[in-house]
Amino acid sequence: MKRRKFNQSLAASLAAITLSRGFAYSPHAFGQKKLGMALVGLGNYATRQLAPALLETQMCELKGIVTGTPSKIDQWKKNYDLKDHQIYNYDNFDSIANNDEIDIVYVVLPNNMHKEYTLRAFQAGKHVICEKPLAMNAQEAAEMVAAGKKANRQLFVGYRLHYEPHHREIMRLCQTEEFGKIKFFEGGFGFRAGNPNQWRLKKAYGGGALMDVGIYVIQAARYTIGQEPIAVSAREFKTNPVKFKEVDELITWQMEFPNGLVANCTTSFSASTNHLYVAAEKGFIRLSPAYGYGGLGGYTRKYKFDFPQVNQQALHMDGIVDTLMNGVPHLNVGGEEGLRDMKIIDAIFKSVKKDGKRMLI
Ligand code: NAD
Repeated sequence: MKRRKFNQSLAASLAAITLSRGFAYSPHAFGQKKLGMALVGLGNYATRQLAPALLETQMCELKGIVTGTPSKIDQWKKNYDLKDHQIYNYDNFDSIANNDEIDIVYVVLPNNMHKEYTLRAFQAGKHVICEKPLAMNAQEAAEMVAAGKKANRQLFVGYRLHYEPHHREIMRLCQTEEFGKIKFFEGGFGFRAGNPNQWRLKKAYGGGALMDVGIYVIQAARYTIGQEPIAVSAREFKTNPVKFKEVDELITWQMEFPNGLVANCTTSFSASTNHLYVAAEKGFIRLSPAYGYGGLGGYTRKYKFDFPQVNQQALHMDGIVDTLMNGVPHLNVGGEEGLRDMKIIDAIFKSVKKDGKRMLI
């Protein structure tokens, strides 16, 4: 009996700590009509993460799919109760303009197709969420941002971690200088890319580790340090020049921030790594794993994080709809944010070409 009471009060105090320290985004649904989402490209991320998340969202729901693979259609209709008029292919995609059930187009295609489908969705009068990286380079990203403005529609990027409690809390700790001024950032995200024929290993598709997962480290460095980098130096290394003939296998780069602050970063398609570390004057923050869909964990010099695992995709999509419907500011997942990262990626590739030369951003 005593033990149960103790456990209950421990749970209550842990919850209180979580609430006081942490940020949990909760959508302002208030019984509003849900906005309709169309997923463009029914690959891994759309099938395994986004569509299931759309069954948990409170402010939006799946109202359309765009696919070039007819054999997928029956299963999607069955799983998500979709009707014939909600099924599109890449040729008739533009007629989505006539479908009032669809408010937002979510582009989940290989990176080289992001710009085309974002522009076509704006032309159809829809808001757009586009997966990361926003585009092939900064020039394309800038065109996408401009197209959204011209169409008077909003552009968002699939930066799901901005709605994740560990990341929210780390941003807060850094912004409020809880451990004093930041002195150093270190981060890495890499995994072993298996299939040698996948588009992620092809240059024309915007493949490579930096575009795919290095971008999370760029993001983390920027939102912990809270400033924009002024210069980068980067080098690329290959242990398998055959498999990684077209794209980067492993890049290490340093981003210089104002006041001499540096972020030391790694990305890889052959080595598994998944962490972020912030060293400040009076303490540190470590998160590892840091960037996955779940299982995130970490600690500071003083305590361990005890935040719940959340459905990042559901919170991210609801957060965006909250912006569109209620004007609640989104958590920095707009097109401009994607454009900033593309400028940094361009500079990293330039530096790699010049064998590590310092490039101003
Ligand atoms: P995937 O290869 O599993 O899916 C891509 C889809 O695009 C497939 O359905 C494929 O049929 C379709 N497609 C249409 N035209 C194609 C063409 N010409 N060549 C190849 N495929 C074509 O890829 P994915 O892992 O789902 O990634 C899609 C996008 O989502 C990428 O931009 C990726 O960076 C992003 N992504 C984001 C996250 C995240 O956590 N935010 C996670 C995974 C992927």
